[in-house]
Amino acid sequence: MRDFVHQRPACRVVFGAGRLDRLPPEVAALELRRVLVIAGGAAARHGEQVAARLGARAVGRFDRVAQHVPEQLAAEAVATAQAAGADGLCSVGGGSATGLAKAVAVALDLPIVAVPTTYAGSEATAVYGITGERKRTAADPRARVRTVVYDPTLTLGLPARATAASGFNALAHAVAALTGPGHDPMAGLSASEAIRLIRRALPVAVREPGRLDARGEVLWAAWLAASSLPPTGGGLHHRLCHVLGGRYGLVHAEVHAVLLPHTVAQDRTLALAAADPVLGEDPAATLRALAAEVGIPTGLAALGMPADKLDSAATEAATAVAPDHPRHGDAGWFRALLSDAYHPKETS
Ligand code: NAD
Repeated sequence: MRDFVHQRPACRVVFGAGRLDRLPPEVAALELRRVLVIAGGAAARHGEQVAARLGARAVGRFDRVAQHVPEQLAAEAVATAQAAGADGLCSVGGGSATGLAKAVAVALDLPIVAVPTTYAGSEATAVYGITGERKRTAADPRARVRTVVYDPTLTLGLPARATAASGFNALAHAVAALTGPGHDPMAGLSASEAIRLIRRALPVAVREPGRLDARGEVLWAAWLAASSLPPTGGGLHHRLCHVLGGRYGLVHAEVHAVLLPHTVAQDRTLALAAADPVLGEDPAATLRALAAEVGIPTGLAALGMPADKLDSAATEAATAVAPDHPRHGDAGWFRALLSDAYHPKETS
């Protein structure tokens, strides 16, 4: 007999090539009249485009974003939204833009419309993070995006390295959905489909960045995967990624990409649970092969992780995981994983 609990909070999703044209009516449908557009870095030009499309409904732009949402930047974005009298936010970009919008939304209780341009999937979760001395993450209903407009044409300019790493961030969401606490069969179906699509389309998107069909498949998979994450978040693997990224300034998606095969290999329960038909009998080996195919750097050393910080990172990760987490890893567990992932060629 089936026995499960399923709950997926409502979020309106508009998906399709060229669907940025639907943004103005979507913003109007939410009755937003004074929208602050948040877009920076390489996605800033898409932010300009969005502000132009919104016309008088866009009251300002905040054009600086940064990974892990530094506290000071969040405070500045909150002040900008207040000064503009914003009644809503439109984030345009990857997880950094979405994350900044979430921080503002939580502070001011404003609705978010998201236009994602990477495969990070933040727009599909209520989790947000802010980084001071260390990164703090929490789930908050105010961080939930109200409407997402996915337009794969906006991802065509994402460089191959970022495409590969971001695709692995989506894979990490799917693996977490398959292996997280509780069993939600809908989430399982979505996650399996996400893995199948990513295995097929990510190498194409990396090899041929202009292939809109492949970009569309990976973006669709990214949404499927992130919207399947358990409410408790991504578990030990995600915890470790947040510690490494937040503390040592590593690129978030690349940390996911380098670590995922190692976390799956290190956690035998995880490996067994992830033994989904699409990952095959040896999920870690499947993930390693895909990582090699799309050119993921081979170890944490290549990402700039300082070797003398592996002990403290392991201790911090162990502390960050609540002792009542179904798979609580201690510092030794994380240290072994980090050793394996630091110079994988030398240790495996
Ligand atoms: P990002 O948003 O920093 O983007 C990565 C890089 O790609 C940046 O240099 C950016 O300028 C560039 N870029 C983005 N879109 C582009 C485009 N269309 N064309 C060309 N370049 C483009 O990184 P990310 O990996 O998308 O997100 C990472 C952040 O998101 C981290 O802070 C992470 O913690 C957070 N995150 C949160 C969740 C969640 O559920 N809350 C999930 C995933 C990631």
